[in-house]
Amino acid sequence: MSVPLLGEPLPIELVNTAYAVRGEPHDGLASVELLTAWLAANEHRLPWKLSSDERAAIGDFELNAARELRDAIRDVAQAITAGTAPSAGAIETLNHHARWAPHWQELQWQAEPTAHVRSAAPPLTATLSFIAQAAIDLFVNHHTDLRACQGPGCVLFFLQDRPQRRWCSAACGNRARAARHYARHR
Ligand SMILES: [Zn+2]
Repeated sequence: MSVPLLGEPLPIELVNTAYAVRGEPHDGLASVELLTAWLAANEHRLPWKLSSDERAAIGDFELNAARELRDAIRDVAQAITAGTAPSAGAIETLNHHARWAPHWQELQWQAEPTAHVRSAAPPLTATLSFIAQAAIDLFVNHHTDLRACQGPGCVLFFLQDRPQRRWCSAACGNRARAARHYARHR
């Protein structure tokens, strides 16, 4: 099984690169190759398309930066869903990534006006900064909708988009129902 992609906001998708299969933790950012694959899978949602040269330039420094940001967003998400305050360290790491690569919109005019996000930073740095800023926006505006999946052994997060939703995916809901059924009939 590869990294789950649930169609959640990008910061949550990044958090969900730490996932579990049958209760075993997996790290979807365990290598440069996995980070490059994750970026490619989410390319349509990022403001910058990485060129093949830029993808080839991703190394351990970029991998560590991506994991650091992922872990900080995860710490804040965990605190929010647990009803506690996140650590000062996680907040500082998130803010550090957000201010690392300031970006802005530029107007472009082809058939119609479009806005293109630009940054002076290297593309991957700018991408992580973009996700950090999206995370801040999410935590400020949607923290009451953030949920940790209730599926057995699942460690994923999702935004609750309908009142009864308790699971990240239909598969987790089915596993939870099967576990309850098993518990009742044992
Ligand atoms: Zn789940």
